[in-house]
Amino acid sequence: MYKGGGEYREGETFCSPSCRSTEHAEEIISAILRGNEYQALAFMCWRCTNYATVADEAGRTALHIASSSGKVRVLKWLIKKGVNLNIQDKESGYTPLHRSLYHGQLNSARYLIMVTKI
Ligand SMILES: [Zn+2]
Repeated sequence: MYKGGGEYREGETFCSPSCRSTEHAEEIISAILRGNEYQALAFMCWRCTNYATVADEAGRTALHIASSSGKVRVLKWLIKKGVNLNIQDKESGYTPLHRSLYHGQLNSARYLIMVTKI
């Protein structure tokens, strides 16, 4: 039985502040795409201790998906948590800014450009 920090639910992948579960990332991505922004935020924080960093098999993080789906509140929340803005996915090497422009999400792109210190 696990007795350290982090959260463990019977039959589930162990989750800790250094969680790397692609399963958790896929569930978070799905919540961002399907729910409204508040539902997505609540699910993300509940589901994975390392929600800001976990990535799916294609290297997509919550920041990539929030950017490409125009969920600016989720985007702002993740940026406040100090995520890496230039993280590239494995699919195409796209950063969150590339993905927001590719999907025509100009509000996401504008915000990402504003917060990026060049
Ligand atoms: Zn996790």
